Amino acid sequence: MNVPLLDVNAQNHPIAGELREAFDRVLETGRFIMGEEVEAFEAELAEFVGAKHAIGVSSGTDAILLALMALGIGPGDEVICPSFTFFATAGCIARTGATPVFCDCHPDTFNIDFASAEECISDKTKAIIPVHLFGQSVDMDVCNAFAEKHGLKVIEDTAQSLGAQYHGKSCGAMSDFGTYSFFPSKNLGGLGDGGLVVTQNDDLAEVAIKLRNHGMHPRYYHQMVGGNFRLDALQAALLRVKFNHYADYTRQRQENAAYYKERLADVQSFVLPIEQEGYTHIWNQFTLRVKDGRRDALKEHLMSNNIGCEVYYPVPMHHQQCFAHLSSDSRTSLSVTDQLAGEVLSIPVYPELETEQQDAVIAALKSF
Ligand SMILES: *Cc1c(COP(=O)(O)O)cnc(C)c1O
Repeated sequence: MNVPLLDVNAQNHPIAGELREAFDRVLETGRFIMGEEVEAFEAELAEFVGAKHAIGVSSGTDAILLALMALGIGPGDEVICPSFTFFATAGCIARTGATPVFCDCHPDTFNIDFASAEECISDKTKAIIPVHLFGQSVDMDVCNAFAEKHGLKVIEDTAQSLGAQYHGKSCGAMSDFGTYSFFPSKNLGGLGDGGLVVTQNDDLAEVAIKLRNHGMHPRYYHQMVGGNFRLDALQAALLRVKFNHYADYTRQRQENAAYYKERLADVQSFVLPIEQEGYTHIWNQFTLRVKDGRRDALKEHLMSNNIGCEVYYPVPMHHQQCFAHLSSDSRTSLSVTDQLAGEVLSIPVYPELETEQQDAVIAALKSF
């Protein structure tokens, strides 16, 4: 049986009619930049995550860049982020002219380790970007206490965790900024690129809204240099359709994760991902840790059984060529990150996974 890591058609084709209606609605208006669809989407998402302001943007990457720009981060500043993350987190810091400073993570949650972050502090540190990795929140009480102690701004990279909760609060809505992605592989996957920035702060929202459109206000007057970070009206309309189904998508991912956990609990060759007490995990990835240097062998084994799997992430930020000039400056041990890069393997957990497909994944894992 063929089991892909993700099947966007299985999610989109059953709602093709609704998606076409949304397309027709926008086609009819002829309004393709900003406008009602974008505003409606922003209002729906703001309510969902419990944020005062939501600002639709062009991608999850641009969301991070925009948040950093709105906070005035730039040359001479340092921003701490985990080394174990997708590149965009660190890349955006570098693009502002600031220096990314990489810290370690916890082996059991894959999320940022604030004891390690503490060792990264200098008098240039201006902000920290915790990443809610794979669908589970960072410990935000610890994060915000850490930020307060050192006078830092906080941007939650929530690309993988829209709707994940930390003691009843939504990821992305617990700090200065939260940033989201609607890349097709994220839990709310668009039909193309898209992103969102949220904040509770009126002044930051005002700056971010201006920066999204070249820092322009009023028309053709520029107090600051922004960019074109706008979300397309068409994409917003399509995302609104998919957002109507989002509760089901999330529940199905959670059911799939529970199914794995129940049936794989006794397997010794790998460690299952954990869900922390008081957190709501939304399972963007279901990530195993494979012991004894056997990760690549397990990956081969699954692939030869037609089961999709992937290493998120094989090369931590502190080993990226573009950041080689920073590595001599490493202030903290990144040993957990290095260990995880050699152990992790994500298996299919997408909502539309059929029971027979999941059983095939489980059988393949058990036969390893
Ligand atoms: C996907 C992702 C991003 C970037 O989002 P795009 O929409 O692809 O630009 C940023 N951070 C993390 C952790 C991600 O997983």
